[in-house]
Amino acid sequence: MSTTERPRILIVGGGYVGLYAARRILKKMRYAEATVTVVDPRSYMTYQPFLPETAAGSISPRNVVVPLRRAVPGAEILTGRVTSIDQDRKVAAVSPLVGEAYEVPFDYLVIALGAVSRTFPTPGLAEQGIGMKGVEEAIGLRNHVLEQLDKAESTTDEEIRRKALTFVFVGGGFAGAETIGEVEDLARDAAKFYKNVKREDMRFVLVDAADKVLPEVGPELGTYGRKHLESRGIEVYLKTTMPSCVDGHVVLSNGLEVDANTIVWTAGVKPNPALARFGLPLGPRGHVDTQSTLQVQGSDYIWAAGDNAQVPDLVAIKNGTPAERAWCPPNAQHAMRQAKVLGDNVVSGMRGFPQGDYKHSNKGAVAGLGLHKGVAMIVMGKMKIKLKGRLAWYMHRGYHGLAMPTWNRKVRVIAEWTINMFQKRDITALGALETPREEFYEAAKPAPAPAKAEAKTEEKVEKKVEEKAKAS
Ligand SMILES: Cc1cc2nc3c(=O)[nH]c(=O)nc-3n(C[C@H](O)[C@H](O)[C@H](O)COP(=O)(O)OP(=O)(O)OC[C@H]3O[C@@H](n4cnc5c(N)ncnc54)[C@H](O)[C@@H]3O)c2cc1C
Repeated sequence: MSTTERPRILIVGGGYVGLYAARRILKKMRYAEATVTVVDPRSYMTYQPFLPETAAGSISPRNVVVPLRRAVPGAEILTGRVTSIDQDRKVAAVSPLVGEAYEVPFDYLVIALGAVSRTFPTPGLAEQGIGMKGVEEAIGLRNHVLEQLDKAESTTDEEIRRKALTFVFVGGGFAGAETIGEVEDLARDAAKFYKNVKREDMRFVLVDAADKVLPEVGPELGTYGRKHLESRGIEVYLKTTMPSCVDGHVVLSNGLEVDANTIVWTAGVKPNPALARFGLPLGPRGHVDTQSTLQVQGSDYIWAAGDNAQVPDLVAIKNGTPAERAWCPPNAQHAMRQAKVLGDNVVSGMRGFPQGDYKHSNKGAVAGLGLHKGVAMIVMGKMKIKLKGRLAWYMHRGYHGLAMPTWNRKVRVIAEWTINMFQKRDITALGALETPREEFYEAAKPAPAPAKAEAKTEEKVEKKVEEKAKAS
C-alpha cells in the first residue's frame, strides 16, 4: 500500500459497484486530487450474469472476469479482505492474501461488498451443495456435471449410475432458472458423445419455495419459462422446499425423495455478513442503510450501493409504495447505475458540493435458458415488450455482450460466441484442475516403502540364519 499526502478514497469490494464507482471517480477527479484504493480478495471483477453460460461452456472462465488492475489502471488495487472499519480513527483493517493484517487509512469510504448465497441450516447442504456466485463455482459445476456422465458411462452399478445422472437445483430465480437451462443443454449435447448415457437417462429437478419461477420477468414470461423448462423434461416443483440432502439423499417437502450427486443451490442472496463488523447502521435484513444519495445514514463521508445496500427506490415510492417497503432490488441493473451516481457524489462530497439522488426506473430483464432459448421483458415508458424463445435469447446476448465491462472482454466474449456458432460444444471435463499438484506430488514424494522392505528382508534373512544355526 502506498503512503499518500492526498485524501484517500477507499473502496471496499471490487465487483460491479467497486469497479464502476472507481472508474467514475477517476474520470471525474482532477489530476492527483485523491488516491483511489480498491480492496478485494479477488484481483478481478466477476460478470455474474454470465456464470450460467460459463457453466455451460459457452464462455471461457477467463473471459467472464475483468482484471481490476487493467480495468482501473489509475487505482491502487490491494488483494485482501477488509475485516473491520474503525470510524473514529478512519482506518480499515485489511487481511492480505499473505502476511500480517494491516490498516489502511481513508478520508472517504465506499462499501461495496455485495451479497453471499442465502442458505438455511439444511442438513447435508454445506457438504453437498454447489453455489453459483463465482467463476470458480461455475467452472467447478461444469466439470462436476461432465464427470457425472463419465461416471455413469463407466459404472456397472445401477444405483451409482442413477445418482450420478440426477441433478437437483434449488431456487428458480434468475440464477437458478438460467443455470438449470444452460446445464441441461450442456448435458443433452454432451450425451450425444456417450454410448451408454442418453438424455432420457438423466433426471433434472428444479425446486422453488415460491409459486413461480423467474419472478424478475413478470408472471406471463415466468409461466412461459416454467413450461419451457418442463417441455425439456425438467421436473419443476413450486411451493416446495428441500428440508434435507444428507449424503446426496434429497428429501423435498412435497414428499419426493431422490438420490443426487449434484445439488445446486441458487435460492437467493443475503448481504455480506462481514458488514456486521463494520459498525454501520443496518436495515432489517442486514443491508447497509443508505439515503437516496447513497450516503450511509448519519454519515457524510461513507457511501454504499449494490447488493449490500438498502437504497430507497424513489420511483416505487413516487408510485405509491410505502417508503419502508420500497428498496431497489439486488441486481446488476441497479448496481451499475448506483455506482455511477455514487462516484459523482463522492467527488462532489470531496469538493463540498451537494449530493444527487439515485433514481432509476426498471428497464426490464433478460434471461437465457440455454442455446437459442430465453425470455425478455423490455420496459419502454408505460409499454412492456415481452419476448420469448430465440428472439429473447438474442436480446439477452446482445444486452449482456454490450454491458460486459471493457472492450477487451466484450470482443473476447462475442468472438467466442461467434466461433461456437460453427463448432460443436466442448465437452472436456477438467476436474483435475482443482487439484493440479496431485500427480506431481505422487511422482515427487519420497518413497520410504522399498527401504522398509529391504530392512524387512534383511531381518528375515538374519532370522533364518539364526534358526539354521540353532537347528544345527
Ligand atoms: C448467477 C447470477 C446471475 C445473475 N444474473 C443477473 C442478470 O441477468 N441481471 C441482473 O441485473 N443481475 C444479475 N445478477 C445479480 C448481479 O450480478 C448482482 O446484483 C451484482 O453483481 C451486484 O453487484 P455488487 O457490486 O453489489 O456485488 P458483487 O458484484 O458481488 O461484488 C462484491 C465484491 O466484494 C468483494 N468482497 C467480498 N467480501 C469482501 C471483503 N471482506 N473485503 C473486500 N472485498 C470483499 C467480492 O469479492 C466481490 O468482488 C446475477 C447474479 C448471479 C449470482
